[in-house]
Amino acid sequence: MSGKADPRPAGEGTTSRARLDRGRGALGPALELVHTGRAPTRAVLTAELGVTRATAGAVAAELEALGLIRVDARPGAAAGSQGRPSHRLDVDEDGPVVLAAQVHADGFRAALVGLGGRIVATTPSCEAVDADPAKVLGAAVDAGADLLRRTGRHCVGAGLAVPSAVTAPDGLALNPLHLAWPVGAPVREIFAERVRAAGVDGPAFAVNDVNAAALAEHRHGAGRGARDLLCVATGHRGVGGALVLDGRLHTGSSGLALEVGHLTVNPEGRPCHCGSRGCLDVEADPLALLTTAGREPGPRAPCSSRPTN
Ligand SMILES: [Zn+2]
Repeated sequence: MSGKADPRPAGEGTTSRARLDRGRGALGPALELVHTGRAPTRAVLTAELGVTRATAGAVAAELEALGLIRVDARPGAAAGSQGRPSHRLDVDEDGPVVLAAQVHADGFRAALVGLGGRIVATTPSCEAVDADPAKVLGAAVDAGADLLRRTGRHCVGAGLAVPSAVTAPDGLALNPLHLAWPVGAPVREIFAERVRAAGVDGPAFAVNDVNAAALAEHRHGAGRGARDLLCVATGHRGVGGALVLDGRLHTGSSGLALEVGHLTVNPEGRPCHCGSRGCLDVEADPLALLTTAGREPGPRAPCSSRPTN
């Protein structure tokens, strides 16, 4: 790469505008690179986008003007870097957020999450899940909307994670085995309606919780920088799996790929809620671990309070 300074022809304003027009298509990819920590400096951003330094500079300046990233005004050498000093880039901590809601076997909660996957605010966990999904999702969205009011943050969308396979694109919860919800509950539609009713802007999505976790690990956690990622996870009850291939979630044709929880791992094992026996879901989840260790699962606590002994 050339180490020469950018040429500064006459008509600087026009030239900057032309650069930005050329770079406008790079705004989304550039934000994603900073959001996922893959472009910590303007030099890396330039290389990753495959554009000139001038274009990368214009793109970074535009993202900063939009309140999405911050560009360190003084270039400094990155630790361990061999190259010339470059301006450090980071997400804008005061930038937009999304409303995130999660439902699991032992409760639900809402949070505001900013760029970089940083949690801005969370509600206390509510530790009772009603059998009516509309009540649970309504309460989670109301709690999230309350966080938005209190923090004054700009919200650009909402996401819901549930412990069930979720069909695509219609968003039905096909097997909410650890909740008392009806099979096929239209969780995406219910959630989107509550989000609109709460006055929250932007699109609303509903996904399987382990799919969401796999994407988060690929973008911000253990899988960062890897092309593919296999995630098998358990949180409260059951075991789920997800696969990221070439940076994208592999969901199959209807959103149901890699539901590993009901693979039989012990034909003589415990009965499973799916009607089978010895599934990974009941042989290797936290309840199985506690039972094997001779411990009782903790008591349920009411909403907005800490579990008591
Ligand atoms: Zn099963």
